[in-house]
Amino acid sequence: MSRYTGPSCKKCRKLSAKLFLKGAKCYSNCVMDKLASVKKGRGPRKPKLSEYGVRLYEKQKARIISGMTETPFANLFTKATKATGQTGEQFLKYLETRLDNIVKRAGFASSLRSARQLVLHGHIKVNDKVVNVPSYQVKIGDKVAIDAKLAAGVVVKQGMEETEKRGLRPSFLEYDSSKNTATLLRWPDRGESSYPVNDQLIVEHYSK
Ligand code: SF4
Repeated sequence: MSRYTGPSCKKCRKLSAKLFLKGAKCYSNCVMDKLASVKKGRGPRKPKLSEYGVRLYEKQKARIISGMTETPFANLFTKATKATGQTGEQFLKYLETRLDNIVKRAGFASSLRSARQLVLHGHIKVNDKVVNVPSYQVKIGDKVAIDAKLAAGVVVKQGMEETEKRGLRPSFLEYDSSKNTATLLRWPDRGESSYPVNDQLIVEHYSK
C-alpha cells in the first residue's frame, strides 16, 4: 500500500474526527470545526459501525495520525506484543517515540508530515549524528536536535513559537531553546500521548 499524499482534511472528514494532521491550521481554521458550527454544535455524525467496524475505525484513526502504511504499522504492533507490559500502552509508546513524532512534539515541525520531511532531508540529529529514518525509535536520554540554520528560519521559528504558545511541548521532553534540542527524559504516560485512540480496541482488532 502506498503512502497517502492527498488532502489531509479529507481523512478527518472520512473518519468524522479531528486528527490534527495539518499543524497550526487544525487549531485556527479547521473544516471540522466549521462543519460543527454549521450543525450548531452537534458535530460530525459518526457512521453506525459493527463491532468489527468499531475496532477497525480505531486502528485506522491511529494509523492515519501516524502517517504510516499498514505493513510497518502492523509490524510495530507485533513488536509491542513482544515487549513486557500492556501491549496497547507499549504500542502507543512506540508510536509516540518515533523520531518523526518526537520532532513534531518538540515543536521543530507543526505537523507529522513536515516532521517526516525534516528527518528525511537530513535536518535532524540524534546524539549529534544525522538520522534520516522517520521510524527511528528514540530512547530515553537521546538528544534530538534540529539543524541550526533551519531553526533560525521563519517557518521553523514560527512553528516553535506556536508550540510554546499553545503549551504543546510535553513534559517527557526537556527542551533547550539555546541549542534547539529536545531530550527524551522518560517514556510518555498514557495521558500524554498524541494519539487520542482506544488502544484496547486496536489490540482487539489485531488479535482477531
Ligand atoms: Fe483535520 Fe486539521 Fe484538516 Fe481539521 S484542519 S480537518 S483537524 S487535518
